[in-house]
Amino acid sequence: MSRLDLFIDRMVSQRACLDHAVRLTADLTGPVFELGLGNGRTYHHLCEILPPRDVFVFERAIASHPDSTPSDDRVFLGDVFETLPAALARFGATSRLIHADLGGHSAEKNVDFARRVSPVIEPLLAPGGLMVSSDRMFFEDLKEIALPSDAVPGRCFIYRR
Ligand code: SAM
Repeated sequence: MSRLDLFIDRMVSQRACLDHAVRLTADLTGPVFELGLGNGRTYHHLCEILPPRDVFVFERAIASHPDSTPSDDRVFLGDVFETLPAALARFGATSRLIHADLGGHSAEKNVDFARRVSPVIEPLLAPGGLMVSSDRMFFEDLKEIALPSDAVPGRCFIYRR
């Protein structure tokens, strides 16, 4: 597969999994966390399918498209290893949906990062809440669930508390 093929599969799978996760958590009311703003494409999509005020962004340096830039009161600015514990102190285990797209170009580094960040993400999710990730995660108590039919296996993962 070319890098273009892999990129397209990741984008298609992100959209399919976010749409699916929003449908599956429709009865939950807690905040939605977007980990890794980047260009802001997935943040923008979340704001199209959810009330934008429900979406909080975790990013160390904001550099998104102007149309996809959250207001300051919806941003946890800094390293997720510091901002996720701060969010836990503020919200507790109430998040309806957490989306993480924090990885870079090195598959090996992404696995190591996923191992370290999983225990920091896990306590934020509400019972019944879902976590969508571009990388396989390493959770103690969250269970991996099936992808929607329009996602590509291995390009996205969904976990439920
Ligand atoms: N989903 C985004 C989109 O649709 O445009 C792309 C996200 S991009 C692949 C990953 C982002 O995660 C980068 O903007 C990077 O700065 C951020 N990031 C990576 N590690 C981080 C960390 N430890 N703390 C905070 N942000 C981090």
